[in-house]
Amino acid sequence: MISEIVDNRRLGTFLSSIDADLAARAKAKGCAHCGGTLHSATYARKPRGLPDSSEQTDWRRHSFCCQTCRRRTTPASVRFLGRRFYAGTVVVLMPAMDDGVTNRRIEELRHVLGVHRRTLLRWRHWWRTAFAVTPFWSVARSSLVPPPNVTALPAGLLKRFVGPDDTTRLVQCLRFLVPLHSPYGDHNC
Ligand SMILES: [Zn+2]
Repeated sequence: MISEIVDNRRLGTFLSSIDADLAARAKAKGCAHCGGTLHSATYARKPRGLPDSSEQTDWRRHSFCCQTCRRRTTPASVRFLGRRFYAGTVVVLMPAMDDGVTNRRIEELRHVLGVHRRTLLRWRHWWRTAFAVTPFWSVARSSLVPPPNVTALPAGLLKRFVGPDDTTRLVQCLRFLVPLHSPYGDHNC
């Protein structure tokens, strides 16, 4: 299941189109610092933790540079969780497997993605501690019925989405998480 989703080119294309949409909206808003016009300053960024076959996927990170103040604006992305290096898909998926962190599954993760058990446990810990106290979660959780228990994160979150297949549910979940990302970088171009 993991390799199927991560390797799914349709998913990669779909996530790219969501990111393009988020980027277009950020560009239309203009510079968050001075309101100036934004110019494209997209850069290549290959997230770690993906199999080689995802090389064909478009991993360019949308970014803009202000014509006036020269500061960079990096829009929200469903493919990149903030400054984390792992693809959003992997970050959500991996700890969600915690219902069955069997040795066989760990072997699969290690083989397909090069993710070790301690990394998995570290991510799960992040969901239940750092994520659980974000202002985003304190508001967003009430929109889910019933709100997932912190000790069930992130699997409990993923279960709240009811698409026809795993890929659709994952995309819904990632879209839901978009406001969590810091939408704007504040360093200069
Ligand atoms: Zn500006």
